[in-house]
Amino acid sequence: KANRKFHPDDSVIDVEGVKIGGGSFAVIAGPCSIESEEQITYCAQRVKAAGASLLRGGAFKPRTSPYSFQGMRSEGLDLLKLARRATGSPIVTEIMNTEHLPLFENVDLIQVGARNMQNFELLKAVGRQKKPVLLKRGLANTLEEFVMSAEYIMAEGNENVILCERGIRTFETSMRNTLDLAGVVMLHKMTHLPVIVDPSHACGHAWMVPQLAKAAVAAGADGLMIEVHNDPAKAKCDGAQSLTPDQFDELMGFISKEVEFFGKKM
Ligand code: PEP
Ligand code: MN
Repeated sequence: KANRKFHPDDSVIDVEGVKIGGGSFAVIAGPCSIESEEQITYCAQRVKAAGASLLRGGAFKPRTSPYSFQGMRSEGLDLLKLARRATGSPIVTEIMNTEHLPLFENVDLIQVGARNMQNFELLKAVGRQKKPVLLKRGLANTLEEFVMSAEYIMAEGNENVILCERGIRTFETSMRNTLDLAGVVMLHKMTHLPVIVDPSHACGHAWMVPQLAKAAVAAGADGLMIEVHNDPAKAKCDGAQSLTPDQFDELMGFISKEVEFFGKKM
């Protein structure tokens, strides 16, 4: 179902009226984690004003250390919904467990994170519901495995899948991961699904994010996911890779022109 061979036309995924794929470009932005009502609402207003069409914010966080901030969980989801009400932006947030699915009923785009890309029971479960799914590439997964994970979701009847390249593990240590932009080009040949790029998790350094974001648009990405925090130095998670609202605003000024240059609509 994901294979381009049998579906030559690009798929366009509709997230509450926001179109992604087939010439429609969308930017997802917001903090790594929801931290308070003021924080998520302020970020939501700023990223919307800068031109982002979807709001992200993590409530259930897949942290490497069990002693790190684990997210505000269901309380965080409630705050994210308040931010949606304040701005009108559809919301994107990560699910880590099939048992949490009822909590995600009111989420507009359900994210399956890199660490769960091959959690096949979770993939089947999000495939059995109707909300669109944002599937992030696993830390050490091939493109073939990535597309097969999308296939798991689609095989259950939900064909609204957006792929996200977010960097992979290589021998390089100066960056958090290595952004596989060639993979974006290859994925567009392998599948008709939209492919977006998350430069924030790919490199781990805020100062690199603008250049990688621009390169992703040039590589044909159908959208971007960018972490933006009101006060990156005090962020509970991923502050080092988060842009300030001002930095994001400046980047969006360029991205909007670049998207137009490449003949897409934002
Ligand atoms: C995230 O988007 O907050 C996240 C944890 O990303 P990834 O699954 O790509 O590491
Ligand atoms: Mn993060």
